[in-house]
Amino acid sequence: MPSSPHRALTGLSHPFRVTKGTRFRLEDFSTDDTRGLELKDESDGLLEDCSVVMADLQERLYAQDRWSVLLIFQAMDAAGKDGTIKHVMTGLNPRGCEVNSFKSPTTEELDHDFLWRTTRLLPRRGHIGIFNRSYYEEMLVVRVHPEILGHQQLPPSLVTPRIWRERFTDVVNYETYLSRQGVIIRKFFLYLSKEEQRRRFMERLAEPDKHWKFSLGDLPEREYFDDYLRAYDDVIRHTATAQAPWYVVPADHKWFTRLVVASAVIEAIESVRPTFPTVDPATRRKLKAAELQLKNEPQTSRLARRGRGRRQ
Ligand code: ATP
Ligand code: MG
Repeated sequence: MPSSPHRALTGLSHPFRVTKGTRFRLEDFSTDDTRGLELKDESDGLLEDCSVVMADLQERLYAQDRWSVLLIFQAMDAAGKDGTIKHVMTGLNPRGCEVNSFKSPTTEELDHDFLWRTTRLLPRRGHIGIFNRSYYEEMLVVRVHPEILGHQQLPPSLVTPRIWRERFTDVVNYETYLSRQGVIIRKFFLYLSKEEQRRRFMERLAEPDKHWKFSLGDLPEREYFDDYLRAYDDVIRHTATAQAPWYVVPADHKWFTRLVVASAVIEAIESVRPTFPTVDPATRRKLKAAELQLKNEPQTSRLARRGRGRRQ
């Protein structure tokens, strides 16, 4: 495995990791923290370096075919989910990596329990799955706009004030189950300030090439910014666990967000030390024999091959 400057990032994500929610308070975290590091100019190089390391880890994970990795990204609009996901993906082999985005549920999805649509898209063993939004929306957007519950086809007797607590419990149990099945779960909340969101929205509106990134619905949603923060605070407090930690990643500086996420992902995969499978002695002897057979095969000269081609 390449040992390289990405080691400089070891531990970078630790201050932002929440493994136990009981004492968690979002206000203890900051949106513009960079740990005093002045790595903006070096960040592209460091991220490239991380990509090389991640590609190697992914190959081992895939070859070993035991563990899978689920990376969940949650954030307000313009916090940089897409850009961060793009950077995490760079260098990964698409054969073993999938990204899925979750928007408002379809009629078919609403006809099932809320974990149904994401469960179908969980990464298979050896794969890395990225969720751009997830079942956590059920405790975020739905909590901020509780009228959505009315469209969820739930039996009315089950819609009580306890519903959020119940969803937290269900999600923790679900993630515990998944981790016992070999799914390595890491959850990222890209924590953006309201002021930085305003700046990014204005940038999108000022540049015609960025208009497509702005949706008119984003502005009314901004009115609920503080409600979303309260919902995130509660979600993280109730669903941060050792097996499925949250990372509250400062998102006002994109270069820092990406470095924190990259280092957290590398650490997550390294934690299970994926190794290439080894073969038993009998198979190894057969492979040796195959190698010998290929070595001793009479070589056809290029001239003979060409001549034969002409005759056909
Ligand atoms: P971008 O804006 O960069 O394209 P996005 O993730 O914000 O990415 P949008 O299409 O703008 O994508 O928004 C998707 C919307 O779907 C969000 O407002 C989100 O809250 C909503 N959504 C996702 N899951 C659910 C859910 N289970 N119930 C209700 N709304 C949901
Ligand atoms: Mg959006």
